[in-house]
Amino acid sequence: MVTVLGGGVSGLAAAHYLLNRSLLPGEKISLIEATAHLGGWMKSTRRPNNVIYEQGPRTIRPKGVQGANTLKLVEELGLSNKVKPIPYGHPATMNRMIYVDKKLHKLPTSMFSLFQKKEPFDKPLVFAALKFLTSPKEICNDDTMYNFVARRFGKDIAEYAISPLICGICAGDAKEISVKFLMRKLFEAEQSQSPMLKEVILNLFAKTPMKDYESELLNKAKEEKWNVYSLEGGLELLPRTLEESLKERGVSIHLNAPCTSITFEGNGVKVKTGRSEHFSDHLISALPALKLAPLLHPQHPDLSEELYKIPFVTVGVVNLTFPKNVLREEAFGFLVPPSQKVPILGIVYDSCCFPSDCDQTVLTVMMGGRFMDDHFGGKLDDAVALQTAVKYSKEILKINDDPCDHKVSILRECIPQYVVGHDKRLQRIYKYIKDRKIPLTLVGCSYEGVGVNDAIFSSKRGIDNIKLKIV
Ligand SMILES: Cc1cc2nc3c(=O)[nH]c(=O)nc-3n(C[C@H](O)[C@H](O)[C@H](O)COP(=O)(O)OP(=O)(O)OC[C@H]3O[C@@H](n4cnc5c(N)ncnc54)[C@H](O)[C@@H]3O)c2cc1C
Repeated sequence: MVTVLGGGVSGLAAAHYLLNRSLLPGEKISLIEATAHLGGWMKSTRRPNNVIYEQGPRTIRPKGVQGANTLKLVEELGLSNKVKPIPYGHPATMNRMIYVDKKLHKLPTSMFSLFQKKEPFDKPLVFAALKFLTSPKEICNDDTMYNFVARRFGKDIAEYAISPLICGICAGDAKEISVKFLMRKLFEAEQSQSPMLKEVILNLFAKTPMKDYESELLNKAKEEKWNVYSLEGGLELLPRTLEESLKERGVSIHLNAPCTSITFEGNGVKVKTGRSEHFSDHLISALPALKLAPLLHPQHPDLSEELYKIPFVTVGVVNLTFPKNVLREEAFGFLVPPSQKVPILGIVYDSCCFPSDCDQTVLTVMMGGRFMDDHFGGKLDDAVALQTAVKYSKEILKINDDPCDHKVSILRECIPQYVVGHDKRLQRIYKYIKDRKIPLTLVGCSYEGVGVNDAIFSSKRGIDNIKLKIV
């Protein structure tokens, strides 16, 4: 028997990969989910006029091994004809903006624009590349994204490109997030003994083997040059289809069953929920680290402490619909650097990314994250979130109309923060589990990547590495 804890996309994917590896039949897999809903943060809501609101993730990138792995899963689930891609060249891929000094500025997207000086940057961006190759090394184990980029590319790049990017990816502070979160290879090139240029070139041309992740959908994504994609009716279609497929293949899914204790005994593990007990040979935790930590504390306090130290942030998400086209320019949206002291992280222009039949404008405003206390004193409620979203979207985008529909979601402790030292913490966590031969596999977005692709890939890798004695 295997128990999977957590019915977010990573728990569902873990059960799917267990079945694919034919390690055991569906009847020997139990999936335990605390709430009445599978999919975790992946939640899509259909509103009047067929408008789709995404509460959590809205697009997936097809790039890299992780991207290819998700496309393969989408194909395996028979969802290829449900994919809604945004190809390169679409305004949503060309126009990505930042809000600085009360103005929206387009970020450079073409080779040509790298040679032009563009506000708010001090110099043409090509100078940043030269600075990168010529700045002196600073030897260290880890560093913040902000420090690394400021020292190797320039302070304006750290301030206006990297800080808002980190807000957009994990609602975090670039002055705390580890450089290894996004720039591991560049950081390792800096730290190596060989000349910087040689290391960078070697890294650029180092190809990750893709053989195991090929699919027709991946070929299509390459041919049609997809930048990002969603699914018809919203990304929640992915966990919903996984759920149907798991049920058909015999997996028992327990909803409204928050796990209350985990006890490792003999060669197995006992998991208790409010209503039932589950004995298995192996436990796959797809819980966020902060939810797993208290469950491991009675038997493994040191492991629990390490898991607790992975911080999480709360994000306010407000979906807004305006009754007509109120945008002056088509774009993906914009991000706000924290230095601007504006209480939103950014706005996504959903109706530009995925236009609907009607002429409405759909926006998603995000706020809070690591800057929650600075702007809201930690007390963001639905009314404050809505008021903030309406005020700043109207002010920044110069909209006169009021929204005709909205949905507010305050997502408590929803995104992990890979702060400086995260990778060393992971090494200690994995070593603890391995040394004590604990029958536990950790998957999900708390460990090796915060996006949907990373969460699914962590499940693939976790299951590939599992050695089960049972048949
Ligand atoms: C606002 C927002 C926007 C995002 N945008 C994007 C995007 O555009 N693109 C992208 O790639 N990624 C995005 N992400 C990240 C993406 O949502 C996550 O990577 C992914 O959903 C993580 O899935 P998961 O299964 O690891 O975790 P979760 O979704 O957190 O699932 C964990 C599950 O465990 C359950 N659980 C918790 N405690 C217990 C317990 N005691 N017992 C049983 N079950 C329990 C929870 O109820 C939940 O269902 C976004 C995230 C957020 C919050």
